[in-house]
Amino acid sequence: MNIALVAHDKKKKDIVNFSIAYERIFEKHNLFATGTTGTRIQEATNLTIHRFNSGPLGGDQQIGAMIAENKMDIVIFLRDPLTAQPHEPDILALMRLCDVHNIPLATNIGGAELLLKGLERGDLSWRKVIRQSD
Ligand code: PGA
Repeated sequence: MNIALVAHDKKKKDIVNFSIAYERIFEKHNLFATGTTGTRIQEATNLTIHRFNSGPLGGDQQIGAMIAENKMDIVIFLRDPLTAQPHEPDILALMRLCDVHNIPLATNIGGAELLLKGLERGDLSWRKVIRQSD
């Protein structure tokens, strides 16, 4: 599975801790992240991550492009709901594309945990079928 990881600045610590906690699951998949998020996770784990641009510089849109091409299976996007973001339009566009293409999207730790537990149990294998039929 291809998994995208994004975290706004005040959520960086959370995504790092989350990645450490679920490293054994993440290491079985292909990971993608916006620039700074990817760097922070790589520094704290042994995970290999394809890093896109930083979010405000187009990273969210690069992940969106993969969704549009049916190449992304899961998006974990720890948003900061209490801080205005300069790239809000890109954030909305990314979430919109997840909805357009029915890509499982978690925007907080609670949802992210459920997604990873489902992933581990094989609950998301329908994504493989959809990708192969593309
Ligand atoms: P970053 O981007 O990982 O480069 O900080 C995330 C974002 O703010 O969208």
